[in-house]
Amino acid sequence: MTIRLATRFAPSPNGHLHPGHAFSALTAWDWACAHDARFILRIEDTDRTRSRHEFETSQIEDLRWLGLDWEKPVRRQSDHLPDYEKGLDRLRDLGLVYPCFCTRKDISASALAPHGPDGVIYPGTCRGLPKDVRDTKQAEGVAFALRLDVARAVEVAERLSGNRLTFTEEGAGPDGETGRLPVDPRPMGDAVLARKDGVIAYHLAVVMDDAAQGITHVIRGQDLFFATPLHRVLQVLLDLPEPRYRHHGLILDETGERMAKRRGSKSLADLRAEGKTPDDIRRMVGLA
Ligand code: GLU
Repeated sequence: MTIRLATRFAPSPNGHLHPGHAFSALTAWDWACAHDARFILRIEDTDRTRSRHEFETSQIEDLRWLGLDWEKPVRRQSDHLPDYEKGLDRLRDLGLVYPCFCTRKDISASALAPHGPDGVIYPGTCRGLPKDVRDTKQAEGVAFALRLDVARAVEVAERLSGNRLTFTEEGAGPDGETGRLPVDPRPMGDAVLARKDGVIAYHLAVVMDDAAQGITHVIRGQDLFFATPLHRVLQVLLDLPEPRYRHHGLILDETGERMAKRRGSKSLADLRAEGKTPDDIRRMVGLA
């Protein structure tokens, strides 16, 4: 049986879509059309504090306006929280998860805490806490996040796969062909898997959903390239299939900054209200 190719666009409903999102969605959509692949829209709303229903509605409206169509029903991550808990349990069973009691302030105050693309890199303060200290803190009700012991996770993943880990990136070969890149998420530090408020981290939800939805090709922005080594490790640990990746360039505004609302760039809804057409948006992002 041949497996039908599939890709997805997976916005977080925490704001309006901008031309940068349109570029990402259209890149995945055009690829799906060219490969007779499934196209999936997934709403990444595990962060209930930032997700708003009205943003989901407006994002869907913008995507329809751009001419995209997707499989129904649309998967919402908030409908699948027990599944992610199961993934977390498996990582726990492998001995790779520990409670972290640090506050944001503790972490940024650490002299060892350099910045990475995902914020301050966690220096591992709680990784080696003795069991009795952990137990006491938990008994006292000190809030904790759950973190992945990334060095051990890489070790276990390499043992499970019997190999040094790599991921497949389109365009990474010396002549622009598909190539395999080494996986090393360790420089990013021990990732949070579940926040103190219980919110499951994007990293865990995204790998489980890509597998659940049969995604064969993950097409997303270069801004998430840093996360892919971690995603690959999680896929091995959770025994999930390996998709291919393509991290596309980002659409920058006139000042060379990424387009985002906080910098005052126009949303797709603003552009539509000004009378722009979907073709104008395609031209604007270089896809016409
Ligand atoms: N939900 C993520 C975002 O809006 C995208 C996740 C992905 O494409 O892997 O940035």
